[in-house]
Amino acid sequence: MVRRGAVLVTGASRGIGAACARRFARAGYPVALNYNRSEEAALALAEELRTGGAWVELFQADVGDTGQVERMVDNVLDKFCQLDILVCNAGIARQQLFTDITDGDWRELFNINVDGTFRCCRAVLPHFIHRKAGRIITVSSMWGVTGGSCEVAYSATKAAIIGLTKALAKEVGPSGITVNCVAPGVIDTEMNGNLTPEDLELLREETPLERLGQPEDVAESVFFLAGEGASFLTGQVLSPNGGILI
Ligand code: NAP
Repeated sequence: MVRRGAVLVTGASRGIGAACARRFARAGYPVALNYNRSEEAALALAEELRTGGAWVELFQADVGDTGQVERMVDNVLDKFCQLDILVCNAGIARQQLFTDITDGDWRELFNINVDGTFRCCRAVLPHFIHRKAGRIITVSSMWGVTGGSCEVAYSATKAAIIGLTKALAKEVGPSGITVNCVAPGVIDTEMNGNLTPEDLELLREETPLERLGQPEDVAESVFFLAGEGASFLTGQVLSPNGGILI
């Protein structure tokens, strides 16, 4: 049996991150489950996965804080000894008119979405480089590819994540590390909780595959990029979006 190192999923208490944690746990990976505020949900997910036989450990940390990210990665390595995969999923969104965006709004979105991804990648890379192996999967959005009205700050962060992914893939490829990105379409999670049923129905109608995405759809793309079948892919953006963006 292949010995698997752990996967660290940031923002795994809910939504897409939780679906990724479930997918990796089902495949037998030890799972390091990061959460920030949703402790109850994270505890419940850990319990669920442990009941299914998985090795799961919880790590509370705000990816918006360098010290917390570095401590989290140290603790993950202490617990599991080996980390194979990093999924930079933690993120926040905000819908507002461009002219209403304050400096604080802009900085907060960048600090969590972009700087959080940067901090997590930087913290795991010495371990990956030492082993000459490792998979990083970043999480952008279709809005990072195409730009979303009333989501300029969010779109800018998600475009930055694509730039980070491509450049980092070139830098660490020679060290045997792949860096790829998923850019999901509209996924049915709490992040879209502010959309009305009518908005969601319109988005569903706009989608060639005629449904909204589920967190599991994204988890399958992430899982693919972490697997053997993706060993010659790096610096790529895979967009599970039902065809809403082609
Ligand atoms: P969600 O349901 O709102 O969940 C967000 C997750 O991120 C939660 O687990 C939350 O943890 C975590 N998080 C937020 N701020 C954090 C911080 N500072 N430190 C650590 N964790 C933090 O959102 P989602 O829809 O699953 O989105 C997950 C990712 O997919 C995000 O990067 C998002 O931009 C991206 N995405 C989503 C969609 C969509 O339509 N839903 C589409 C494209 C891309 P706590 O609750 O524990 O604080």
